[in-house]
Amino acid sequence: MTEAKVSISASHKERFPSSFSVTGGKGGTGKSTVAINLAVSFMLDGKKVLLVDADVDSPNIAVLLNVEKRSQRRVTGFLPEFDADKCTRCGTCVESCRAHALILPEDRPPMLFPEICTGCEICRYVCPSDAVKEKSKTVGYIYDARYENIDILIGELELNQIEAALMIQKLREEVEERLGNQSYDVLIIDTAPGAHCGVMRALEFSDIAIPVTEPTPLGAHDLDLILELTNILNIKPFVVLNRSGIGDDEIIKKVCEKHSAELISNIPFDMGLFECYAKSIPVVTGKPDSPSAKAFKELYGKIRDLVL
Ligand code: SF4
Ligand code: SF4
Repeated sequence: MTEAKVSISASHKERFPSSFSVTGGKGGTGKSTVAINLAVSFMLDGKKVLLVDADVDSPNIAVLLNVEKRSQRRVTGFLPEFDADKCTRCGTCVESCRAHALILPEDRPPMLFPEICTGCEICRYVCPSDAVKEKSKTVGYIYDARYENIDILIGELELNQIEAALMIQKLREEVEERLGNQSYDVLIIDTAPGAHCGVMRALEFSDIAIPVTEPTPLGAHDLDLILELTNILNIKPFVVLNRSGIGDDEIIKKVCEKHSAELISNIPFDMGLFECYAKSIPVVTGKPDSPSAKAFKELYGKIRDLVL
């Protein structure tokens, strides 16, 4: 049984409208499809939705809804540059770099491997000679998009950049700015898959989490990880089992029981969903009488009762 409304702190509610994250331990479970169909269901119910694509490694909401990305904003990050006149070649920065992005050649200041530098700035803080300068680099871009009455914010990392947490932080700042200027009934965040710090940052501004999984051993394993994370963050999870019936649904139920997490919806394997997916149409409007659309409508009713 779905519980009554979740308890949301007053300070959170002052800053954000009702919000939830659609997340998942692994990619390819249908996370974005769930986020889109819920966003469209809220819109059809007359609610104003801000949908955030925070899967910054490979955002796909614009493609899935066949909408254009507009008004690109550049997100920059820190990249160290070493001042040869000041550097004493003490090696402290090299030893402190947890990403192993620095080496110390015999006769020169440290040498950087920019593709593995995370921009953490530790080298700058530990340098006793003030020899580390800031050189900015492009980490990614934030875009706007719109689908009917749904406003969409999209974060996208530049190729070969790995600062997902920084991108999420910038997205979050844009969301807060947007909420200061416009009124929304609900904020929906489509997170990256996995349980890394970028996912944590996205989950932190949600009232509840909707982990989406599939009935496979890998799906069960990754659900286990994401439920551990929601437990640590003290965010109540409501699990959606996608493609229910194509594998062993029982293994997912067992993981939910282990974490006392509610399995809130079983979305059946449905060719109607795939046909809509191929045409970039949400199944709740493209094939409203299909089994998956009916499951999404039922899921929508439960989520609405939880967060609104
Ligand atoms: S910014 Fe961080 S990751 Fe990059 S070189 Fe400095 S310590 Fe290493
Ligand atoms: S910590 Fe500063 S002085 Fe030491 S090697 Fe690094 S840049 Fe040079």
